[in-house]
Amino acid sequence: MSSESLELIERFCWWFHIIGILLFLNYVPYSKHFHIFLSFPNVYYSNLEAKGRFTNMESVTREVKLMLDPASVPATDVPASPQRFGAKDVEDLTWKQLMDAYSCTECGRCTSSCPANQTGKLLSPRKIMMDTRDRLEEVGKAIDKNGTEYRDEKSLLNYITEEELWACTSCNACTEACPVNIDPLSIILDMRRYLIMEESKVPQELAGMFNKIENNGAPWQFAQADRYKWAEEGT
Ligand code: SF4
Ligand code: SF4
Repeated sequence: MSSESLELIERFCWWFHIIGILLFLNYVPYSKHFHIFLSFPNVYYSNLEAKGRFTNMESVTREVKLMLDPASVPATDVPASPQRFGAKDVEDLTWKQLMDAYSCTECGRCTSSCPANQTGKLLSPRKIMMDTRDRLEEVGKAIDKNGTEYRDEKSLLNYITEEELWACTSCNACTEACPVNIDPLSIILDMRRYLIMEESKVPQELAGMFNKIENNGAPWQFAQADRYKWAEEGT
C-alpha cells in the first residue's frame, strides 16, 4: 500500500475507535454493562462480617429478650417499629442489595458453585440477581410514568418463587464465588423472612422446628427439663 492509503486507514480506524467509545459510554448506563462502573464501589462496600452471620431485627430481638427476661432489657432505648419484616419487593431491600443487582456481570460463577443448583433444584443465585434487577427496572419505569406514589400489583415474589427461596441451604458458596462480592443470599434470606413473618408461609418441616424452638427452646421435641435424661439412663 502507498503511504497515503495507510495514513487514510489509520485515520479512519482512529476516529472510528474514539467515536465508537464515546457512543458506547452513553449506552453503558442503560445496559447490563453498567457493572463496569459499579463493580468498584460494590467491592468497596462489601459485607466484611463473617460469612454466615445473619442480620437480626433489633425490635424483634428486644421482644424475644423481654419474653425471656424482662429485667435484661432497658426500658429506654426502644427501637422504631419496622415498616416491614423482611423483603417483599425491591423497595424493601437495602441500597447495597440493589447495587449488587446492577453490579452483576451475569458470569454465572455463583450458580456453578451453588449446591442446590448442582443437585437439580430450581435455585440459581445468578437468576436471583437478574430478577432483582429486572423488577427494579420495572418499578423504576412505572414510577417515571405514573409518579412516585405509584405501586403495581406485582412484587419480587412474582419473579422469584418460593420454591427457589426454600431450595437455598444458606451455604454462602455463591458469595465466595462472586468476583465482585455480590451477596445473593442476603436477598434470599430477607424474602424468606417476609414469607415467614408476614405471610406465615413456611415449609412443613421448618414449621415443626419453629414450634419446638418456641415451646422447648431447642429444635428437638423434648422439654428442657428432660435434656439430661440421656446421661441418667446409663447410671
Ligand atoms: S447460599 Fe444458597 S444460593 Fe448461595 S450457593 Fe448456597 S445454596 Fe446456592
Ligand atoms: S458470580 Fe456474582 S457477578 Fe457472577 S453471576 Fe453470580 S452474582 Fe453475578
